[in-house]
Amino acid sequence: MKVPFLDLKAQYAAIKSEMDRAIAEVVTDAAFAGGPYVAKFETSFAAFCRCQHAIGVGSGTDALWFALLALGVGAGDEVITVPNTFIATAEAISFCGAKPVFVDVDERTYTMRPDLFERAITAQTKVVIPVHLFGQPADMDPILRIAAAHGLRVIEDACQAHGAEYHGRPVGSLGDAGCFSFYPGKNLGAYGEAGAVITNNQPLAEKIRILRDHGQPRKYFHTVVGWNGRMDGIQGAVLAAKLPHLPAWNEARRAHARLYKELLSGVSGVTLPWEADYSRHVFHIFALRLPGRDAALQRLTNEGIGCAIHYPIPLHLQEAYRDLAYRAGAFPVAERCAGEFLSLPMFPELQAAQVEFVVGRLRAIM
Ligand SMILES: *Cc1c(COP(=O)(O)O)cnc(C)c1O
Repeated sequence: MKVPFLDLKAQYAAIKSEMDRAIAEVVTDAAFAGGPYVAKFETSFAAFCRCQHAIGVGSGTDALWFALLALGVGAGDEVITVPNTFIATAEAISFCGAKPVFVDVDERTYTMRPDLFERAITAQTKVVIPVHLFGQPADMDPILRIAAAHGLRVIEDACQAHGAEYHGRPVGSLGDAGCFSFYPGKNLGAYGEAGAVITNNQPLAEKIRILRDHGQPRKYFHTVVGWNGRMDGIQGAVLAAKLPHLPAWNEARRAHARLYKELLSGVSGVTLPWEADYSRHVFHIFALRLPGRDAALQRLTNEGIGCAIHYPIPLHLQEAYRDLAYRAGAFPVAERCAGEFLSLPMFPELQAAQVEFVVGRLRAIM
């Protein structure tokens, strides 16, 4: 049996007629860049997140960058985030001219430790970006409380957590802005690149709308220097047609996670993903920790089981960030995780028999 890490073709096969119809409408209307299909998706995605505004942009990276710019982040500012995330979180900070400042994560949730965030605050700190890694929300209440006490703004990196909840509230809607990616492999994936910012702050929403469209509130009237960061019409239509399926897809991911955990419980050496009491985890990634990860990954791969590492090198040790002058040992939890994480196949269409097969092979290898 072969088990892919991710199977986007299986999802398309299940909803082919809806997708083909959505794309054909955009092509017939020639509504390619921004426009009515994007606007319609923005309305439904805002409602899904129980938030007032959603602004469709070109990618999750754009979403983070525009949210930071709209909050006034620039040269001389510091933005606190975590080192165990996709590099886009830090790139967006750097592309504002600001400095990323990393803090270590909790051993069980792999998300930002509020006490370490508080200790990293300086006179230059403007914003904090907790990351809802793998689909598990960061512990937002203390983060929001500390940020408010120090006059800081909060941007949630919800790029892996569409539909996840913190104490019953959708992630992305808790801070000043929430950023989402619709990269094809995400829980809600476009047929190309796309992203969105959500916010309950009307002036902030307006700034981001203008920034993503060349700084123009009206065509050819440019009030600020902006960028071309609009969402494609086709992506808006595809995402609007997919959104009603997202709750069932997330439920399927949760069921696969339960089965993995049940079948792997008691295997010595394996640390299973933990769902915090405050959390409704949506398992974008099912990552366990095991010593001897590299050998296990190699053997599973050789047997036709798709596995991955999210992420092999924490950001503070990446060559791109050598100027920040962090050393190995600076963030022990993030560093240990990078050496032990193994992501198993996870996508809604995964079959129970495939989960059983993956666990059987992993147990044999262990
Ligand atoms: C995917 C991702 C991003 C970037 O999104 P893109 O759409 O690929 O630009 C940012 N942060 C995290 C945590 C992500 O997983």
